[in-house]
Amino acid sequence: MNPSPSTTANVSEAEPFPAGPAVRRPTRQVRIEWGGKSVAVGGDAPVMVQSMTNTDTADAIATAIQVKELALAGSEVVRITVNTAEAAREVPAIREQLDRMGVEAPLVGDFHYNGHKLLTQYPECAQALSKYRINPGNMGAGKKRDDNFAQMIEVACRHGKPVRIGVNWGSLDQDLLARMMDENGRRARPWDAQSVMRDALVVSAIDNARRAEELGLPGDRIILSCKVSNAQDLIAVYRDISRRCDYPLHLGLTEAGMGSKGIVASTAAMGILLQEGIGDTIRVSLTPEPNGDRAREVVVAQEILQSLGLRAFAPVVVACPGCGRTSSTVFQELAADIQSYLRAQMPVWRLKYPGAENLHVAVMGCVVNGPGESKFADIGISLPGTGEQPVAPVFIDGQRSVTLKGEHIAREFQALVEAYVENRYSKR
Ligand code: SF4
Repeated sequence: MNPSPSTTANVSEAEPFPAGPAVRRPTRQVRIEWGGKSVAVGGDAPVMVQSMTNTDTADAIATAIQVKELALAGSEVVRITVNTAEAAREVPAIREQLDRMGVEAPLVGDFHYNGHKLLTQYPECAQALSKYRINPGNMGAGKKRDDNFAQMIEVACRHGKPVRIGVNWGSLDQDLLARMMDENGRRARPWDAQSVMRDALVVSAIDNARRAEELGLPGDRIILSCKVSNAQDLIAVYRDISRRCDYPLHLGLTEAGMGSKGIVASTAAMGILLQEGIGDTIRVSLTPEPNGDRAREVVVAQEILQSLGLRAFAPVVVACPGCGRTSSTVFQELAADIQSYLRAQMPVWRLKYPGAENLHVAVMGCVVNGPGESKFADIGISLPGTGEQPVAPVFIDGQRSVTLKGEHIAREFQALVEAYVENRYSKR
């Protein structure tokens, strides 16, 4: 048992309670390249954020615009559907359009059923893409599936592209599952069906990766994923596959759902795995709300990684939840405004003020925790609660700096934040 923390007389010699994520699982490193640039997945690379468009890829303009929006939000890789000849034909135009707009994100083609044909018939598409996503469960059955798979791997080898072999619960190889169910029946103590299905997902991903290597694709051009729609299954499957291979892993809860349900389920499942050092790239698959912002999935993915202290993407705003001590909505509005303002600045600040993503800002509702929390932040404001004097002290680097009052507190605080960032993070 750990001795209790010391008070005054006896200083405990016990080690402090450990904090932070486990050491990342060692993996090979895959490079996704385009136009002389590249991003790394696995190895010593930071956990990478990716996303997927929901436009019709045959509409090159709409797709390029959405890719740009996702990339500006911070998506480091963007996947697009390539499902028809029309879509495959437009892929080079989308890449060119992105290059013209200065969008720095590689494109991944998502293939099901006809990927072998599209990649072979449209070599410009195969070349313009930086990676192919292959689902072995959606390539036919028996010899036909093997041939189609081999054809896609052959294209990847010819163009020097990496692949993600992505198996899904909803499209699991039925031949393999049937065989594994039969084998399970011969066990002295058969597993339950759910366990066999989880095992089949892992076996399918690893077997197909090994087959790709036998067909000539180097092992450092393969990423794996085993997506399911239930958090506990995802945790079990990824813990299992992480012990059985050293390919980088793409993490994501498929069909996570809409709004808070999708965010919470994805965060719960991926948070546990990332804390255990499992996962090299993540995607949050949120069902878009009508007219909703597709880039939300990027923001959520970044916030998962930043909350765990794995990466920093945008300044953190610490805001209290509010309670009966403040009936005003001023601090809620200020917290929301500052958060959106900071995020909107990041595409420019990332280049102009390197390190600004580590900024901590506090916006607090009253004197109870306001000054204390504001002192811990780089810059913080403690707004007046009900019955308090209508003034808002601002703390900079732990010291009380100025006191704001009147109707323009929000604007003045924003100017102070901007000045702080400029002063602290300007390139010298
Ligand atoms: S800081 Fe004040 S207003 Fe905010 S939650 Fe705490 S007591 Fe309530």
